[in-house]
Amino acid sequence: MANVAITVAKGDGIGPEIMDACLFILKEAGARIDIEEIEIGEQVYLRGNSAGIEPGAWDSLRRTRVFFKAPITTPQGGGYKSLNVTTRKMLGLYANVRPCVAYNPFVRTKHPGMDVVIVRENEEDLYAGIEHRQTDEVYQCLKLISRPGSEKIVRYAFEYARQNQRKKVTAFTKDNIMKMTDGLFHKVFDEIGVEYPDIEKEHWIVDIGAAKMADTPEAFDVIVLPNLYGDILSDVAAQIAGSVGLAGSANIGEHAAMFEAIHGSAPRRAGQNLANPSGLFLGGVMMMVHIGQPDIAELIHNAWLRTIEDGVHTYDIFKEGVSKEKVGTKEFAQAVVARLGKKPEQLKAVSYAKGSTTTPKAAGVAARPRARKATVGVDVFVQWNDRDPNAFGKMIEPLSGDGLKLGMISNRGQKVYPDGMPETFCTDHWRCRFLAEGEAVQHSQIANLLSRFAAAGIDFIKTENLCTFDGEISFSGGQSE
Ligand code: NAD
Repeated sequence: MANVAITVAKGDGIGPEIMDACLFILKEAGARIDIEEIEIGEQVYLRGNSAGIEPGAWDSLRRTRVFFKAPITTPQGGGYKSLNVTTRKMLGLYANVRPCVAYNPFVRTKHPGMDVVIVRENEEDLYAGIEHRQTDEVYQCLKLISRPGSEKIVRYAFEYARQNQRKKVTAFTKDNIMKMTDGLFHKVFDEIGVEYPDIEKEHWIVDIGAAKMADTPEAFDVIVLPNLYGDILSDVAAQIAGSVGLAGSANIGEHAAMFEAIHGSAPRRAGQNLANPSGLFLGGVMMMVHIGQPDIAELIHNAWLRTIEDGVHTYDIFKEGVSKEKVGTKEFAQAVVARLGKKPEQLKAVSYAKGSTTTPKAAGVAARPRARKATVGVDVFVQWNDRDPNAFGKMIEPLSGDGLKLGMISNRGQKVYPDGMPETFCTDHWRCRFLAEGEAVQHSQIANLLSRFAAAGIDFIKTENLCTFDGEISFSGGQSE
């Protein structure tokens, strides 16, 4: 069988030591890989490259489409872009997969039975990076949830569950509040779930779901979440399983994939042969499944489990009375190699079936007909520095006309005019909702409305069109409207 080319970056801090340890285990296990090494991280940033990766390195990544990445140090100070976010977006790595497993009684854990896989959407939500300061007092970050983005991640979660003999997929959202964005994610989860009758499905509101996960993680199997909730809860899940230092992660796209540890470069531990290579190693196990070498994944994963079970531990998980031998990074890797071919006796051995993959075939997005869209109004956002909604409303009322009529004014989403409550606190950021008097609104009417704002000397910040799609109202009302 031909070797598979992979791109490797040794990173910063403890990165080179733990990467060398992982590559040593892979080599001794007979992994059929050819390594292309690229430089990323601190030195690249400090040479003036704000992305932390040289343009030439992308050629290797585009060629191999598999990235085994050690942690890097992001230099202090502004202007440096997150290499992880750049890589995820450039390569379209839409799924972040993080298994969080307890290794009781060999690694201290609050939850002995925990075995949860977090599948986090990786490209959109509040991570689109679209932020603006709009007034003296108000800043905005846009939360974007798309149907294709939701379909891809939800389908990925179900395919992952099916291929890895998992029984249940749970979605976490906050759709009781964000009815449109999180509501879409939930709706897509329900729609796609129907195609997987063999898998149990459930949905939790993220706050109580997170509490339940922290308290009773055994209640969950695979959890699929939008980006922000997934970012936060995947760290919580890894920590309560035992240690953030033990978790690996895969970032999967349709064209490429990246595998890494979830911890950082731990600069204070660097160069001392102390660091635990297990997080990166478990990322490497997922990589071997991904590149079609599940035999190697199974061999090294079982040897690693046996090493943990034999009490051969690095300092971070060493515990008197449980651990047998405190070892350094290199010695830990040698201990894993010495156990190749062995299986754990108390911990559950893993098996990766032939044909296992981290990249499900059905990741594509179904084509849908475009909806019939009509604009039925417009929200005009305004900066105005007096806090009195009635004075503001009186100023805006005369701007109605030309088929658009002021419906209401809200402040931070709360309707304050007409008929607001005097107790409601108002910032300098106002939304004026104008509704069509006729059937639909033309763009020219909106432009004319803005001209009237400008002529009245009112500082508008932006507009949002109010639309219906196939006749369905597709914008939220003001609170207490
Ligand atoms: P960190 O995860 O690097 O380290 C926190 C602490 O955890 C360390 O002091 C160490 O005691 C322990 N630790 C972490 N990994 C360990 C291991 N493998 N073995 C033993 N102990 C380990 O987090 P930090 O100190 O906040 O960040 C350090 C640097 O890493 C920063 O520059 C940060 O930007 C970067 N970082 C990079 C990544 C990445 O490349 N994916 C992720 C997170 C942080």
